[in-house]
Amino acid sequence: MVTGRFPERIVVIGAGMAGLVCTLELMKQGYNVRLLEANSQPGGRIYTMRDHFADGLFCELGAAFIGEHHFLTLSYAQQAGVQLINLPVPNRSLSYIGGRLIIDSPAEPALWPVSLTAEERILGYAGMLGKYLTPGLNATGNPFLPGWPTKQAIQLDSMTMEEYLRGQGASSGAIKLFEIGYMQMLGDGIRKVSALQRLLDLKMAGSERSSKTIVGGMDQLPKKLALTIGSNISYGCAVTHIEHSNKEVTIRFNHSGEVFTISCDRVIVAIPSTVLRTIHFSPSLSKEKNDAIQNQLSTSVTRTVIQSRTRFWNNLSSFTTVNTDLKIGWLLDATFSQTTSRRGLICSYSSGESARELSKAGNFNSAVSEIKQVLPELSYNYEGGTVFSWDHHPYSRGAYAWYKPKQMIRMLPTLTAEEGRIYLAGDNTSLFPGWIEGAISSALRTVNQIISGNSI
Ligand SMILES: Cc1cc2nc3c(=O)[nH]c(=O)nc-3n(C[C@H](O)[C@H](O)[C@H](O)COP(=O)(O)OP(=O)(O)OC[C@H]3O[C@@H](n4cnc5c(N)ncnc54)[C@H](O)[C@@H]3O)c2cc1C
Repeated sequence: MVTGRFPERIVVIGAGMAGLVCTLELMKQGYNVRLLEANSQPGGRIYTMRDHFADGLFCELGAAFIGEHHFLTLSYAQQAGVQLINLPVPNRSLSYIGGRLIIDSPAEPALWPVSLTAEERILGYAGMLGKYLTPGLNATGNPFLPGWPTKQAIQLDSMTMEEYLRGQGASSGAIKLFEIGYMQMLGDGIRKVSALQRLLDLKMAGSERSSKTIVGGMDQLPKKLALTIGSNISYGCAVTHIEHSNKEVTIRFNHSGEVFTISCDRVIVAIPSTVLRTIHFSPSLSKEKNDAIQNQLSTSVTRTVIQSRTRFWNNLSSFTTVNTDLKIGWLLDATFSQTTSRRGLICSYSSGESARELSKAGNFNSAVSEIKQVLPELSYNYEGGTVFSWDHHPYSRGAYAWYKPKQMIRMLPTLTAEEGRIYLAGDNTSLFPGWIEGAISSALRTVNQIISGNSI
């Protein structure tokens, strides 16, 4: 029970989904909340790129999909009144491996150009996923139940995803296939990432068959929530210093070239660790907390978006996405839900080392030639494009957090523990970095910590 001053003054830093939800929920409880955002708009890593393309087309550079079991995200989407649409369900999957387009479907299983065991050839891609992943998905346990992490979860956190797959009997060829596509998009891929994080993330991803997106662009979700918050948000306020004592917290921020300060009773810092490290705390945070902030890794993601004069790919019966073994990584039709133009946008999703390579100045053209390699008709339809690196975004400095073995279970309790008047939120403090669901769950955890905490 809060027995001190009420309403308490709370400052929330960062108007991504975590900061927005913290602010909304604390305002509902009667707290006096101010939300400081460095950018001129809300949403953070929900970033719908507009005004770069013809005919009003737009492209999601950050969050694009909502799973049917993302109950928190769906609930705030409903509160915001945004309209959802299902992703198209292709009847076959496309991959581009070793310079060839490979089509895989239950009726016509692909002949994968890698060396698989006889059993793996019979199982096919979906069968291999089922055989090798199911035991691990079960072994992660339910992280929301008391007693978690279980022994099995701790064991999974002590190995890489590749080690886990080999332990399940996956051949080198099968592992090579898993290194192409979604499984590779966390951190520096399955040879580096903790098996526990990789498997928890796969659970959160669910099936793309049941995923949804927001009609008119994902940015409508944070924008509508921000409208409800109204003038309690201040944009263009980049926080640089946090001074704290047992009496209050003073926050220093830059706004239109001038330095301002604001004092409050408690602060919620809802920004990624990569940016948090640039904020000066006085006195310093505890050694454990500081170590976790300094050492939490962030996935590199680079998106290349190409505008095409026609949607020639509609002739490729199932093109919504293509997994490639090229630096561009995953290719997708970014405009499948936008029907007002004959033009379309193709977007690549490159992660890890390839993303760092493609983010270097001058590498746009090499990304374009890779995309043309996969979709040759683009040569006659190309109308321009752009490249966006999450590593280079000053207020993200990476796409989403990832862990090497033995980091996740050790770091998470440290990141989530309050320290005096300071609370950390954001998807990187949740079990599900890289998901709006993780950002919202971190916000609700923080709000509960504040509401259930004693007066300070
Ligand atoms: C490439 C990519 C693909 C993704 N795909 C999906 C998907 O399909 N589905 C899904 O659910 N999720 C997806 N995500 C994850 C989702 O976007 C994030 O989990 C979620 O948006 C994180 O919200 P957040 O509030 O924790 O952080 P952020 O969105 O990063 O918000 C932090 C905010 O803090 C602000 N800020 C930073 N520093 C300061 C400062 N010093 N002072 C003031 N303000 C500051 C930033 O400008 C930002 O607005 C994806 C993310 C990326 C990058």
